[in-house]
Amino acid sequence: MEVDLFKVIGGKKGISRLFIGGLHGKEGLSTIHAFKTIKYIDVNEGKLVLCNLPPSPYLSTLDPLYFLSLAGMKVINIIQKYQPGIYLELHCYHPNKKQKLINMDRKDIFGVPRLVELEEGVLIGSTFPLIRSIFFDLNDFPFILEIPCNPPVNSLEVSSKIMKIAAQSANRSQIMKKIMKDYPYQVERLDDYFHEFSQNFWPAFQELKKNTLEMEIKTFQDLDKLITGLVREGGFDLNPVQMKQLGQAFMVYREYNLPNSDLG
Ligand SMILES: [Zn+2]
Repeated sequence: MEVDLFKVIGGKKGISRLFIGGLHGKEGLSTIHAFKTIKYIDVNEGKLVLCNLPPSPYLSTLDPLYFLSLAGMKVINIIQKYQPGIYLELHCYHPNKKQKLINMDRKDIFGVPRLVELEEGVLIGSTFPLIRSIFFDLNDFPFILEIPCNPPVNSLEVSSKIMKIAAQSANRSQIMKKIMKDYPYQVERLDDYFHEFSQNFWPAFQELKKNTLEMEIKTFQDLDKLITGLVREGGFDLNPVQMKQLGQAFMVYREYNLPNSDLG
């Protein structure tokens, strides 16, 4: 079976959308099935880039090192090239990992919001704050779908429905409105998280970037101290794991942006 997929649908003007799967491990073997359901879709305006990647060593996308790995850099290069306002990461999970993805304490343990189930084991959630803060604008719509690995037909119908909505919408509010018809509770959770993120992690990261222009960061202690200070001063509601992620986001940001960086 062909796993690699790269296809650009639509024209140059208007919103850019990127759907990407197979980010790590063998997930591409499962996510390709979801891509097949929308491979021939039409977009009314803007463009849609479909990209399914071949197997790569498994590194969690929560691990900042992922974005400095070969697979992660490939993903970032595509994001930087197409600058999507709508970005969908497709992942797959094994049944025994489901609880970990939807647990209420996911934020305390991993610093990321929990996913919520739509139907048929298809989970929806926000893209991780690290990638979201560095590579997207606040009002872009980066999100994640997790489908069961070796997805059953019923799960593919749900993921296909969501992918079609995202492919034929022009922005966040259009997508939310359409998904809300079938899944009001889930959309409320996504909205809650978006507000929390826009008021805490996002502005804290902007502050951090601004501050580091004015002072040189030589050690991790410098960075930790700076973060602790600005979170306190800004009154941002961030737990210890999220504060650590701020520092990690800054390191990845620096790798990709500073003029002297090897990767830049
Ligand atoms: Zn994954």
